[in-house]
Amino acid sequence: MCLTRFSYAVFAATLSFIFFAQPVFAFQVFLDAGHGGQDQGASRGKITEAAITLKVVKRIGSDLSTHPDIHVSYTRTSNVYRSLEERVQLANRAHPDLFLSVHANSSSDPSARGQEIYFQNVLDPDQKSLFLANLENQNMHGTNNSAGATGGDVNAILADLTHSRNIHLSGLFAEKLHKDWQGDSVIRRRSIRQAPFFVISNVDAPAALIEIGYITNPTEAHLLTTNRYQEKIARGITNAIIQFKELVDNPVRPSLN
Ligand SMILES: [Zn+2]
Repeated sequence: MCLTRFSYAVFAATLSFIFFAQPVFAFQVFLDAGHGGQDQGASRGKITEAAITLKVVKRIGSDLSTHPDIHVSYTRTSNVYRSLEERVQLANRAHPDLFLSVHANSSSDPSARGQEIYFQNVLDPDQKSLFLANLENQNMHGTNNSAGATGGDVNAILADLTHSRNIHLSGLFAEKLHKDWQGDSVIRRRSIRQAPFFVISNVDAPAALIEIGYITNPTEAHLLTTNRYQEKIARGITNAIIQFKELVDNPVRPSLN
């Protein structure tokens, strides 16, 4: 594909806007408490993942609501069932600046412990298929030549850039989450991983999923039910979200020299 000088100028201006646009409105955070209703997720006795994630998410939302420039939305605020597709639809309708899904882990090994942070860092199959289909169609209609970039070309590139930006920012947010919890001495084992979770792969925003601990680990299960520990988790996540917002609001612009 060959971009004309004009197309390149439009492309560069749009690229600059995508990466460095200053938010005019409140920073929109969409919180997703995993499971709920008929789907209680992992459990240990009467302790359920759905109940713990809801409590932690509500605490994060309450902490964030004191910030004047942050607006919080939720996939659920009570013990109701939401399918994964509904969660994605709700989030995408709100055009959030950040999406965070909160879960608690389980394992057949009761000694498994710690927190895990996931973000999407590969193109999902739909995006790949779309991009490939776009390229094939250009060839079919003979537009993939030196006549310059078509609207289809630019749209495909911009869609890809937005997706790349989301993946890049998702990684930065995951790092903030990871870093902000280094000082927490209660559960020290944490990791950042990649996995194609449905919600974080399909929400059109920087997105991460956090497993806040193992319900199947007796020590962690007990901690996760205490107000003190839930507050601690919520505070760490809230701090990471605020730091991420500041990073997006004040990006370090690369020198063009
Ligand atoms: Zn879960």
